[in-house]
Amino acid sequence: MKCQGCGGSAVIKMRQHKLALCADCFPDWLRRRVQHTIERYGMFGPADKVLVAVSGGKDSLALWDMLAALDYQSEGVYIDLGIPHGDYSAQSRGRALAFAQARGLTLHVVDLVATYGASVPEKARALRGRSACSLCGMVKRHEMNRVARESDCTVLATGHNLDDEAATLFGNTLRWQTGYLARQAPVLPASSDGFMRKVKPLCRVAERESAAYALLQGIDYVRDECPFSERATSLVYKRLLNDLESRSPAAKQSFYLEFLKARDRGAVQFQEVERPPMTSCEQCGQPTTAGGLCAFCRLWEV
Ligand code: SF4
Ligand SMILES: [Zn+2]
Ligand SMILES: [Zn+2]
Repeated sequence: MKCQGCGGSAVIKMRQHKLALCADCFPDWLRRRVQHTIERYGMFGPADKVLVAVSGGKDSLALWDMLAALDYQSEGVYIDLGIPHGDYSAQSRGRALAFAQARGLTLHVVDLVATYGASVPEKARALRGRSACSLCGMVKRHEMNRVARESDCTVLATGHNLDDEAATLFGNTLRWQTGYLARQAPVLPASSDGFMRKVKPLCRVAERESAAYALLQGIDYVRDECPFSERATSLVYKRLLNDLESRSPAAKQSFYLEFLKARDRGAVQFQEVERPPMTSCEQCGQPTTAGGLCAFCRLWEV
């Protein structure tokens, strides 16, 4: 199999793009694709400082590597949730720190146990009925937004890839969750009440492509998935979409990108769920709909 960039020996064939590339051409090609996505959706520019949400996995580390190579100003944030199973949090934190140190990049580490006194699994056990994942989502949103504000970053970037976005779209469509469909976008603008702009520069990059990029760039990432993800329905959707993709190359890409295009030209319209008015949390100052203390601050009162 020949590289269609230079005629050398190709290491990856991407049926959805009808393209095969070698170990030199592929990383360049993928970075250009991400650069195009950043510009196409107006995610950020050279004057912005991007805070990359880093999990220690391939997608977020590949994203940070690309942004640094593309000369964007960036810092990283890692939230240590204190997940003990197989040392998951310790391993992923170690990978994130090693990545940042090797490249001279700044990584902010938030250690939940050291800072607030309990891990996400401990809190989930204490609050019977709350899943670790629902707490995790709320904790991450709060802490990432706090670190972004405190470190003068102007935008928060996550490593969600095309497979993640297609699976989310599939789940939202299956239940016609129109409020979520209205908000599923590569860019969520900043809100006047203090939520940072959020962007997904890898939304057109397949999971297989980001894994190949991490491998070719010599990025040491955590291979294991979070132990709580086993129960996630998104994994079922990903398997279904992969099955579809193997029969019909580019199915995932067209499912997601054609949805965005149709919505942008007004062919489908979904009404956003109206958010109740926001106030500032009495303790941390971050926006909340709860009045008084925000959900994050109330969590540590229990
Ligand atoms: S599966 Fe994801 S959302 Fe759930 S606890 Fe793990 S990292 Fe958090
Ligand atoms: Zn080549
Ligand atoms: Zn608060």
